[in-house]
Amino acid sequence: ELQLAERVQRIKPSPTLAVTARAAELRAAGHDVIGLGAGEPDFDTPSHIVEAAVTAARAGQTRYTAVDGTAELKQAIIDKLQRDNGLAYEPSQILVSSGAKQSLFNAMAALLNEGDEIVIPAPYWVSYPDMALVFGARPVYVSAGAESRFKITPEQLEAALSERTRMVVLNSPSNPTGSAYTRDELAALGAVLERYPQVVVASDDIYEHILWREEPFSNIANAAPAIAERTLVVNGVSKAYAMTGWRIGYAAGPAELIAAMKKVQSQSTSNPASISQAAALAALNGDQGCIAPMREQFKQRHDFVVERLNAMPGVQCEPCDGTFYCFPSVAQAMERLGFSDDVAFAEQLISDAGVALVPGSAFGAPGYVRISYATSMENLERAMDRLAGRLVG
Ligand code: PLP
Repeated sequence: ELQLAERVQRIKPSPTLAVTARAAELRAAGHDVIGLGAGEPDFDTPSHIVEAAVTAARAGQTRYTAVDGTAELKQAIIDKLQRDNGLAYEPSQILVSSGAKQSLFNAMAALLNEGDEIVIPAPYWVSYPDMALVFGARPVYVSAGAESRFKITPEQLEAALSERTRMVVLNSPSNPTGSAYTRDELAALGAVLERYPQVVVASDDIYEHILWREEPFSNIANAAPAIAERTLVVNGVSKAYAMTGWRIGYAAGPAELIAAMKKVQSQSTSNPASISQAAALAALNGDQGCIAPMREQFKQRHDFVVERLNAMPGVQCEPCDGTFYCFPSVAQAMERLGFSDDVAFAEQLISDAGVALVPGSAFGAPGYVRISYATSMENLERAMDRLAGRLVG
């Protein structure tokens, strides 16, 4: 028998990708399954971005680039962080990677020793805990439910921090909840973190542009300048520009940390794809007008889905600040239908109702489900009709 490393046995495959795969499998077998599991915009990449990639490929930008990204793209990222976020960086503080996911992986590789602690607010993006487990670190979860709009309090954060804590991950707007922290809430979390100088805060801003609440976006580096110099801002082009397949993300933070992350990347993947970097350059430097129409569509779909969900017996859904997810509580519906486990419940919904969504326990929040509305209105109407039918029946 093949002997696999222990680190592989500590982790599981991404459950959101698993739901998408299961839906595809049923569809291939002739079933009519509506997928509400996707973690990506359903729009095409804007054409000026695609054209820039074609031009780059034709112009011979087909070789290795610098490990940390081309000088042009790094400058475009610096300009973006100044323009949108009011944050100033030097090129030595920027690392371009193959997706924000790799940025986070590099960061954990650079920061976490065996037995170190990483504070992860729950509900969390599925990959944070498993990435930490690869490096033998211990995830410390801080749970927040619908009653606090899934946001943790400074008291909860304080209780989770210890002298072993090396990282805290914040994701706002959040996958899976769609909630975003206000600037004041972030300032209050920052005030706690000021007392823990050994902690690096990773701010996962990947949904920054898919935000419709009135208050503009801010992250903890904006809200708590005292900890800005140990904040690692993680962002990318996947969600804002419908570019998930191009695989370009980036991190901005302390030069020493960025250098360590670059070293890890230099010994794993080297530079992200040169052609994708040219596309990301066009996305960041080009007309930002392509973002708003997508955001408006997500908002319309959000309004429709939240209203339909709240009309279903035993379902409660908080309105969201942004993203393309909502995260309804289905605990009462599950209880009435005799389910104690949201994984079994989600499996039933795939096979009985033909609707694929992700059980909340994948995000550390049993009793909820994540619904992605990154699909057409027509699909959403059919899916909501099916769910309503199943939950009444
Ligand atoms: N962070 C969060 C919260 C996400 O939802 C995702 C994608 O699903 C990512 C990071 C990774 O994005 P990418 O690697 O495509 O840049």
